[in-house]
Amino acid sequence: MNKGIFITGTDTGVGKTVVASALALRLKSEGIDVGLFKPFQSAGYDAKIFKEIVGVSEPLSLINPYYSCLPLAPYKAFKRINLRKVVMAYKELASRHDFMIVEGAGGLLVPIKKDYLMSDLILELGLPVLIISRAGLGTINHTLLTASEAKNLGIEVRGIVINGKDIKKSDISVNSNARVIKEFCKVPILGIIPKCRNTEEAIDYASKIIDIKAILQGKGNNYRQLMQSDKKYIWHPFTQMKDWLKSRPLIIEEAKGCYLKDTAGKWYLDGVSSLWVNLYGHRKREIDLAIKTQIDKVAHSTLLGLANVPSVELAKRLIEIAPAGLRKVFYSDNGSTAVEVALKIAYQYWQHKGKTEKCKFVYLENAYHGDTLGAVSVGGIDLFHKTFRPLLFNGFKANSPYCYRCPEDKVYPGCHFACLEKLENIMRVNNRHIAALIVEPIVQAAGGMIVWPQGILKRMEQICRRYNILLILDEVATGFGRTGKMFACEHEKVRPDIMCLSKGLTAGYLPLAATLVRQEIYNAFLGDYREKKTFFHGHSYTGNPLACRAAIANLDLFKKEKILQGLRPKIEFLSKRLEHFRNLRCVGDIRQKGFMVGIELVKDKPTKEPYAWEEKIGIKVCEHIRRYGVILRPLGNVIVLMPPLTISFFDLDRLVKATYKSIEEVTG
Ligand SMILES: *Cc1c(COP(=O)(O)O)cnc(C)c1O
Repeated sequence: MNKGIFITGTDTGVGKTVVASALALRLKSEGIDVGLFKPFQSAGYDAKIFKEIVGVSEPLSLINPYYSCLPLAPYKAFKRINLRKVVMAYKELASRHDFMIVEGAGGLLVPIKKDYLMSDLILELGLPVLIISRAGLGTINHTLLTASEAKNLGIEVRGIVINGKDIKKSDISVNSNARVIKEFCKVPILGIIPKCRNTEEAIDYASKIIDIKAILQGKGNNYRQLMQSDKKYIWHPFTQMKDWLKSRPLIIEEAKGCYLKDTAGKWYLDGVSSLWVNLYGHRKREIDLAIKTQIDKVAHSTLLGLANVPSVELAKRLIEIAPAGLRKVFYSDNGSTAVEVALKIAYQYWQHKGKTEKCKFVYLENAYHGDTLGAVSVGGIDLFHKTFRPLLFNGFKANSPYCYRCPEDKVYPGCHFACLEKLENIMRVNNRHIAALIVEPIVQAAGGMIVWPQGILKRMEQICRRYNILLILDEVATGFGRTGKMFACEHEKVRPDIMCLSKGLTAGYLPLAATLVRQEIYNAFLGDYREKKTFFHGHSYTGNPLACRAAIANLDLFKKEKILQGLRPKIEFLSKRLEHFRNLRCVGDIRQKGFMVGIELVKDKPTKEPYAWEEKIGIKVCEHIRRYGVILRPLGNVIVLMPPLTISFFDLDRLVKATYKSIEEVTG
């Protein structure tokens, strides 16, 4: 059975309370335990009527947390509305009853707080709606507006009830209106209530005729069917499908803010930002709107031989915020392709410069740059990359500045960056053959959230300059505020020759990537047509207008909501809370840069002995934490926390507590 229904109207005074009460009485007569909720009430006695007629035991203060005797809209009637209190009251009531009837105030777009409408509350409560509309001429327009706005916002409309049909003056419009509304909204009309002498009579009448089937059933998803089809048709990435086939996978149906909802209606905190991409939580109003607006203009048009408006605007905006020196934007659609583009540009650049022997790349141990073959060639994670070695081009692999497991067995800062000696040697001996160094600046993410000591990146830049080698920074994971700055390289004022962006670029909405290059590199590709200096590379969805709009909205939000400033206290809070993890017997290392966190679990702390791969310790912790309503995804034995940048302190606290408990319970 569904948990409830939200009664809204095309207008105020259309008879929401009549229908809500009637519906409650009817459901009660069918043996269903009904709870009532009327979050906001200004003037009138709806909540009281509602409570008395239906006869529920809860106090009025719980059923109606906000009451004002002034006949004003909630936005004006109540100075300080605590939405958490409203939601908690609803949850409390919902836990006591089989079915909840919630009555709104006015219609869908009634403002409640700044940037918060009645529709936001409906979405937050996760309820479908029943629309009450007034009988009589001129109601079609209001009803269709309400129904279509609900649809646009992703609110399910279960049905429409028309109230106040005038039986004396044979009102000819009512029946034809109902037919028109039904035809245009594709929503059933669940009842037409005549004008009655008083409220009691109307409620009595309505309770007899209202059609409750549609309200109780809804469309709903069948978990079993979905799960079976998933297992029958989908091959999941980075997943042992034999294990998957035995599991009961969560199937996400919708999301709001930092929470994801599964098909069973359970909400989970999105602790890894939907795999590191999401910045503001889900269904961020400004980004939703940017995409919706663009879709009414053009969804896609190519950049091969044509330009399009959003890709131009975005390119300008990206260059404005990029590290100094980067001047051109080459679009593609994911992190791996952004890296492919960077590698091919770097290679071809030297060809054009006449240094044809400069064709090899230097990369680092534990590096991850994506899963296409070029990106895998510069990858340093054996588990992912070794299998494909025969297919890959050769390069030079240098050390990873992984202090917890130092490749030189030294201790920072006394080590004086001994790990860089290998890199410098490679470059000194082979610089004639080296096109570029590619690294993930400061945090090697997929390699286990390996955070570098301060100063290493700067040294790498200096070495590259000394030996005339291009520096490619893969900021796919670290870009867009993740490390506390817009780009990680800003921490050390490093200026790359080429920079790769994706993941956070569209704030987690659509696939888009950009490879930014210096003017001098771009210039090397200019020439007469017959010289064939063109960069022969491009993807079908290059510069996709919808994705570019999402990215522009993202950059607007960084400014408007002062995201980077707001992040600072949260980063500090997170650092403090992570300190406690050191008490845990199996926590070997805690690494954090901004909002990127890796907690490395070890079997034996003094010897740093890792858990065996087969023990699946990371997976176990992340499966366990779901019971606390949190979604995480580990990297081997490293537990990763990477919440959306706008997560509240409250949720950040929840995330850290649940992680602590899960590690303790699984390893204890
Ligand atoms: C995720 C990632 C990539 C690959 O991006 P995809 O969109 O998954 O292809 C490349 N580089 C880094 C640093 C990444 O974290």
